[in-house]
Amino acid sequence: MTTTDQRVAIVTGAARGIGAATAVRLAQEGRAVAVLDLDEAACKDTVEKITAAGGTALAVGCDVSDPEQVEAAVTRIAAELGAPTILVNNAGVIRDNLLFKMTETDWDLVMGVHLKGAFLMARAVQKYMVDAGFGRVVNLSSSSALGNRGQVNYSAAKAGLQGFTKTLALELGKFGVTANSVAPGFIATEMTAQTAARIGMEFEDFKKAAADGIPVKRVGYPEDIANAIAFFTGEDAGFVSGQVMYVAGGPLN
Ligand code: NAP
Repeated sequence: MTTTDQRVAIVTGAARGIGAATAVRLAQEGRAVAVLDLDEAACKDTVEKITAAGGTALAVGCDVSDPEQVEAAVTRIAAELGAPTILVNNAGVIRDNLLFKMTETDWDLVMGVHLKGAFLMARAVQKYMVDAGFGRVVNLSSSSALGNRGQVNYSAAKAGLQGFTKTLALELGKFGVTANSVAPGFIATEMTAQTAARIGMEFEDFKKAAADGIPVKRVGYPEDIANAIAFFTGEDAGFVSGQVMYVAGGPLN
């Protein structure tokens, strides 16, 4: 790659939270970034943050669980920004409940966004990576992949993403494509604020309680995850593939 070539990255669920921080961070790394989320208008803040700092970004509305929307979004990104060779599958939802109360709708929604969404996005983007002989895929897993009460749907999807990651690494390695997974612990975002609300706790108290149980004695922030993703998507990370990195302020197993 010459210095005039700018890699194009797609970050899903990038209107806020970890996705927004990742989009901003990848732009700082010199990437042109497709800021993709359900609602195109909601991507405006992230895009403005990037362009105000001199970066290149495009807002893209897309439901990652819908095959037609995914194909259309990736085609548009390739036409407007260039061939995407970095993909961060970050879009996510939670629909927590104990097994006996969990509906099929909530099971299907969580599987659809996390697992099917990552599959559809990777399938649509891989041809650009293969053509370029370079690619970086990062899938957002979670410490919940190890099991978490009330999250049978989410933990199954996040564990599934780890297998998905390893298989992508095996299939695409010979084309210069790596696939890795970042598994965050407790990160202060809308998602964890929703969990606090569901269990009737103030978010500040919820964060304090979580921090007490974390070895580094603080909760994580979206930038902590963006740092790990920046490493995996880096030009010099080509020999690191099929890995799961827990970013959780301490060891998990
Ligand atoms: P967040 O603040 O809830 O942001 C998720 C984003 O994804 C939202 O903007 C959401 O849009 C978007 N989204 C949802 N469904 C989508 C779909 N079908 N297509 C496109 N975009 C969609 O979540 P976060 O905390 O930043 O989490 C980001 C990722 O990290 C998720 O995969 C999550 O599971 C994972 N993670 C988070 C934590 C944590 O502690 N926060 C821990 C482990 C793993 P709407 O607002 O329109 O719904």
